[in-house]
Amino acid sequence: MHLIKNMGWIEVITGSMFSGKSEELIRRIKRARYGKKKIEVFKPKIDARYCRKSVVSHNGDKITATNIERASEINDFISEDAQVVAIDEIQFFDEEIIKVCQSLADSGKRVIVAGLDMDFRGEPFGYTNLLMSMAEYVDKLQAICVVCGNPASRTQRLIEGRPASLSDPTILVGAKESYEARCRQCHEVPK
Ligand code: ADP
Ligand code: ZN
Repeated sequence: MHLIKNMGWIEVITGSMFSGKSEELIRRIKRARYGKKKIEVFKPKIDARYCRKSVVSHNGDKITATNIERASEINDFISEDAQVVAIDEIQFFDEEIIKVCQSLADSGKRVIVAGLDMDFRGEPFGYTNLLMSMAEYVDKLQAICVVCGNPASRTQRLIEGRPASLSDPTILVGAKESYEARCRQCHEVPK
């Protein structure tokens, strides 16, 4: 990203699971550190993947983050002189995330957010899509389809090894579930 003096903006990193969103977010944070920027990193409490207090990529990279429950808590934790604000798993935040990101960018900060654009049904997930429309920069990443090897834009949800159906609840207590990266053709959502 180019350096724009005295101006904030929003960058969105989106795509399916395994597309490298967290990897890319971590990469941008590390590069901002070389620029000696003051950086704050946030993620929702809901995501307990690997490590509760870090942004973690499936490639093993991680960076310490502040866990928050509601988007508005970002305003409570952020220091006035923060120059870069990174937020992972934005699809899990409430509507307030829009206002928070806009006002951070308006006040001159670089806001980098990463999150899923679609849920396992292939439908818009949370407020990622609205943020994409307001952002200055959007990168939509693709994983690799584990069935056919093409670029994968979708997240396949499996319950006990079988494709989850449209009506299956997003959170299932007790069932063994897993996720895979798949392309449009190999993505299955039985009715
Ligand atoms: P995201 O945040 O989008 O879920 P991550 O940054 O956590 O992505 O993970 C990206 C890493 O996942 C890749 O660098 C690669 O090591 C690994 N990976 C596992 N399965 C796949 C796949 N099907 N396609 C691409 N990368 C994969
Ligand atoms: Zn495929």
